[in-house]
Parts: sequence; C-alpha cells; structure tokens
Amino acid sequence: MRVIRIVTPPLAANCYLIMDEKKAIIDVGGDAEFIFRALKRHIDPRELDYVFLTHSHYDHAAAAGYFKGIGKIAIHEEEMKLLRLQRFASVFGVSFKAFEPDILLRGGEVFELGELELEVIHTPGHSPGSVCFYEPKKKWLFSGDTVFAYGSFGRYDLPGGNGRLLLDSIEKLSKLDVVNLYPGHEDVVEGNAKESILESLRIARMFI
Ligand SMILES: [Zn+2]
Repeated sequence: MRVIRIVTPPLAANCYLIMDEKKAIIDVGGDAEFIFRALKRHIDPRELDYVFLTHSHYDHAAAAGYFKGIGKIAIHEEEMKLLRLQRFASVFGVSFKAFEPDILLRGGEVFELGELELEVIHTPGHSPGSVCFYEPKKKWLFSGDTVFAYGSFGRYDLPGGNGRLLLDSIEKLSKLDVVNLYPGHEDVVEGNAKESILESLRIARMFI
C-alpha cells in the first residue's frame, strides 16, 4: 500500500493517489491532462476504483468529469448545488466538465480499500458538502480544505461557506486521534497531527 501526493494545477491542490488492493484518488485538480499524465507514472488510470472528492471547488474537482466511467466518483450530496453552479463557469481558464457523481455521500460511509479503510466525515463550512476521509487504523486524516498544517484552516467567505459550521467541523476533527494529516493544500503533517488540528481550532476560535 502506498499513498502518493500529486500537486495539481491551477492552484496547487494536493491530490492523493492511494494504491491499495483497491485504487483510489482523493481530489483530482483542475487540469485533466496533467492529472492523467501524473497518474500514468504509477498506474493505468483505468484501474482506479474510486475518485473521492473532498468538495467541488474547481481547483480540486474541475477535472473529475474526465474520470466518469473510470473510477466511481463520490461527492457529498450537499455539494451538488455548488457543483451544478460551477459547471457552467470557466474560472481562470479552467473549464469544469459536467458530470453526475456515481456515489452521493452523506457522511458515515466506510470504503474498504484493502489495508486501508476510509471513513467519510461531513465537515461543512468551507463549502456545504465538504468532507474529510479518516483512516482509523493508521489514524490518517485527508482533510481537503477544512484544516491545513501549521494551525491553518479553510476559507469560509466563498459561496456556500459558513464560519460557524467550519468552526464546528474543526471541533469535530479535533476529537479524532490523528497521526498524519493530508490536507488539500501545502504541507503534509507526519506524526502528532492532532496537535496541528488543535492549533487550527485555537486560531479558528479567535478569528471566526
Ligand atoms: Zn476549496
């Protein structure tokens, strides 16, 4: 089992390729040609079982439509309105290819990948249907744009954002036992990531 971080254009979103018995990717970025080329260094993209989206923002999800019919595309049901709004938009030259998800998440689902399992945690605030994926045995958290390293956290001033909900979501995450944090942008935290999430909570409480 391996987890490979792929930093994607246009806004350097982190995508995570999980090579377990099943193959999955968490977020795909906004450039289909780039992500397929990057994936091909490790796997045949057609081997992907799942394409998990932490949320619908174009920097994480605009290339997702190109995975339709390849891996099952999963996104939270409360993200659908925002997803539909964006599919007509072309932001910073990134076009959003329309797609219908294969799996609508509600939170609480568990996906067995082999050595790893991913539990879906609904963490609204950055967007209505933002989710995190938690691996309970390894204590890994794939946090999308909800929390980042160094006590940082996601914006809540974009359409569908909500500071109060973001604070509640960070509080929910701070109760988890987390060793490694794999956020949607910038650095990964390896070891004692719970401390980093508690720092995000402390700072969020001051500013939100
Ligand atoms: Zn975002």
